[in-house]
Amino acid sequence: MGLLRLLPRPGRHEDDSIDEPELDLVTEPELERAAPAGGDAALDAEVPVDVDAATGHTGPALRPAPTLTPAAAIPGASATRVIALANQKGGVAKTTTTLNLGVALHELGHRVLLIDLDPQGNLTMSQGMNPDVIEKSMFDVLVHRIPISDVIMHVEVDLAVASIDLAGAELALSSLIGRERALEKALLEVRDNYDYVLIDTPPSLGLLTINAFVAATGVIVPVQCEYLSLRGLVQLENTLAMVRENLNQRVGVEGIVATMYDGRTLHAREAIEILEENFGELLCRTRIRKTVRYAEAPVKGSSVLKYDPSGPAAEAYRELAREFVAKEVSHGAQAREHA
Ligand code: ADP
Ligand code: MG
Repeated sequence: MGLLRLLPRPGRHEDDSIDEPELDLVTEPELERAAPAGGDAALDAEVPVDVDAATGHTGPALRPAPTLTPAAAIPGASATRVIALANQKGGVAKTTTTLNLGVALHELGHRVLLIDLDPQGNLTMSQGMNPDVIEKSMFDVLVHRIPISDVIMHVEVDLAVASIDLAGAELALSSLIGRERALEKALLEVRDNYDYVLIDTPPSLGLLTINAFVAATGVIVPVQCEYLSLRGLVQLENTLAMVRENLNQRVGVEGIVATMYDGRTLHAREAIEILEENFGELLCRTRIRKTVRYAEAPVKGSSVLKYDPSGPAAEAYRELAREFVAKEVSHGAQAREHA
């Protein structure tokens, strides 16, 4: 299936000409420590990039060298692309990217469904709805098996909404047979109506995120340039590997999106360098810059493409959508070649 291991380029840590000891890549024991087999310790392991005030160099948080497995090109797979936006770190722009990438794909003429799988309901709120008063939501779809079409709202794009109940979904699902496949099953009803289904996931690698991975053809990982957590990516890949082994052979990473990028800081430029070095082509070329527009738009219940249609913030997600579609097209071509 051609799974690519994305190891760091050899030699960087041996290269005397690079005077950045803080950015040395890991040794194996360090990597093992950085990737404990789940549990709370795993979630605690993320450490922000620290900037040394004197040198401007980033700190030791960047040491783990994760391996991410790209999504497999499946010959004859359904034309609908189901993409989970995941990163167990909160505040990295999963929700912002789900909405704005989705709206940008819709502008390009694609049929788009967004799914709010986060009990916080930020995606639902960002389209002007209140998760506290929503009667039927993804909770009922997953736990009570009501049709997903019952919870799809027609807003800027179609959106399957979350409600506050979703917080209890992991517990309610945990005793059900087929608990990891609830979303995949629910999607069967509608998936052929869409070209892209984007799933916004909670900041954890629990059962809701696993449901998203099982239903997905690929995963997009937004990463925040300000607080890069490569340890988090090691844990994400471990969970994906478990899902691939047991539940969904094809799922892998389609792309990493660098968000909240401020090119004026050395710190952000170094974060990009490290991502490029570790992940090569998996890192999307489009950078999502840091701007308050992304926080303003949801307050008005709209995407940034609607809120400030001609501004650079909207253009960034349009560019990401074009890059993503181009990637998908070449992925499809690969699949046909191997068919
Ligand atoms: P997540 O879903 O990963 O928790 P969000 O999409 O909710 O992250 O983003 C976290 C916060 O950062 C939100 O307030 C959002 O408006 C803001 N934000 C997202 N992207 C950017 C950006 N590129 N620049 C500045 N702020 C951003
Ligand atoms: Mg979110």
